[in-house]
Amino acid sequence: VANGLSSIKCFLDEDLEPTCFERSNDVGGLWKFTEISKDGMTRVYKSLVTNVCKEMSCYSDFPFQEDYPNFMHQEKFWNYLQEFAEHFDLKYIQFRRGSRTEPSLMPSWFALDAS
Ligand SMILES: Cc1cc2nc3c(=O)[nH]c(=O)nc-3n(C[C@H](O)[C@H](O)[C@H](O)COP(=O)(O)OP(=O)(O)OC[C@H]3O[C@@H](n4cnc5c(N)ncnc54)[C@H](O)[C@@H]3O)c2cc1C
Repeated sequence: VANGLSSIKCFLDEDLEPTCFERSNDVGGLWKFTEISKDGMTRVYKSLVTNVCKEMSCYSDFPFQEDYPNFMHQEKFWNYLQEFAEHFDLKYIQFRRGSRTEPSLMPSWFALDAS
């Protein structure tokens, strides 16, 4: 949901109210570490440290806190995503809700609730 969070923020900036479907139960997408991937999704591994510096990997309107290291452990990056979600009150996510796109309706994006 790293891209999902910024998409929600963009909708809100345009005074539009989005609904984001997230099939898992948390924000963070692949940055949410789990010992075992039950859904088959590739996630960060336990010892992962980011390979892009914090100035380059932050949201443009939400810099990392000063005391965050330049390259950080995956857990800190996940904290940052949560901070972003809380700061902008991104309450528009429906968790445990999968979606699929309907190709015949392209190019208009249309999400079908598949849960
Ligand atoms: C091991 C690893 C290390 C990485 N390290 C770095 C790094 O150091 N620096 C860097 O900049 N980038 C790194 N990346 C790149 C990473 O892909 C991006 O940083 C970013 O997390 C991608 O965000 P995303 O929102 O596109 O995807 P994701 O974080 O994968 O989020 C996708 C979300 O969509 C949900 N979803 C999927 N299908 C459906 C569906 N049908 N219905 C509802 N919800 C659905 C998933 O549950 C998930 O929460 C790394 C990637 C990996 C795999």
